[in-house]
Amino acid sequence: MYIALESSGFDAPKAQAPSVRACCSTLGMFAAVRPSNQLLAALPACDWQHLSRHMELVEMPLGQVLYESGDDLTHVVFPTTAIVSLLNLTASGACAEFATVGNDGLVGVPLLMGGMSTNGRAVVQSAGHGYRLHRQVIVDEFNAGGAVMQVLLRYTQALLTQVAQNALCNRHHAVEQQVCRLILQNLDRVQGNCLQMTQELLASKLGVRRESVTLVALALQRDGLIRYARGRIEVLDRQSLEDRACECYAVVKLECDRLLPRAPADAASLWAMQRADAQTG
Ligand SMILES: [Zn+2]
Repeated sequence: MYIALESSGFDAPKAQAPSVRACCSTLGMFAAVRPSNQLLAALPACDWQHLSRHMELVEMPLGQVLYESGDDLTHVVFPTTAIVSLLNLTASGACAEFATVGNDGLVGVPLLMGGMSTNGRAVVQSAGHGYRLHRQVIVDEFNAGGAVMQVLLRYTQALLTQVAQNALCNRHHAVEQQVCRLILQNLDRVQGNCLQMTQELLASKLGVRRESVTLVALALQRDGLIRYARGRIEVLDRQSLEDRACECYAVVKLECDRLLPRAPADAASLWAMQRADAQTG
């Protein structure tokens, strides 16, 4: 169950008359107030207008647990500025991250699969905001097909790509390569070149000892790639960080860029193309 998600006091999306949903041909003025979540921003205007009537912009504080293993998921959340870590835990309580969700995705994919719950945990690792939507709304919209279903299915494939690559990475790549990958993946989900990320958090995400992360951080700082102080990472040389990361960063990024539409027009044309294929096939 999602807990402690309170309204942030920010302006929530304005309710729209139901009739505007039928108007799919223009993006209109609504496109100008698109949220900074890539999936929501990629929806055709009519779908965004419909969903926005049910959405609530919520604050997502550091450490907030969005769901625990076995919880019935009641909502999905589309982060805008927050970053959420999806983790699995051992029986002894040790954990490792299998995916990161920021403004590129949503938390709550098991609802779309019909599973209602999952055996992982979702925790806010970087404070910010996101749009919360009740499960029935997103499930109904998903089951109706159309652009919403297409965008969310493609996101699910992108998420699976991330999970599979992380499994490979955790098994075969050095801690320094993994730290560089993680810094880059998180940097892509924030504005600017700074991250709030303690060494303890980095170590728990990777499922390694903190001392290993400390050695890597010292090496990266010594070589001028980052500046690290009091849980704040400032990236000074992104290109060198990419050079020292394993290939997993580029593999996941390229696949996500391929799968996820970058603009409403992309999602609309994707849906139209697939509908035409179905009719002619
Ligand atoms: Zn790797």
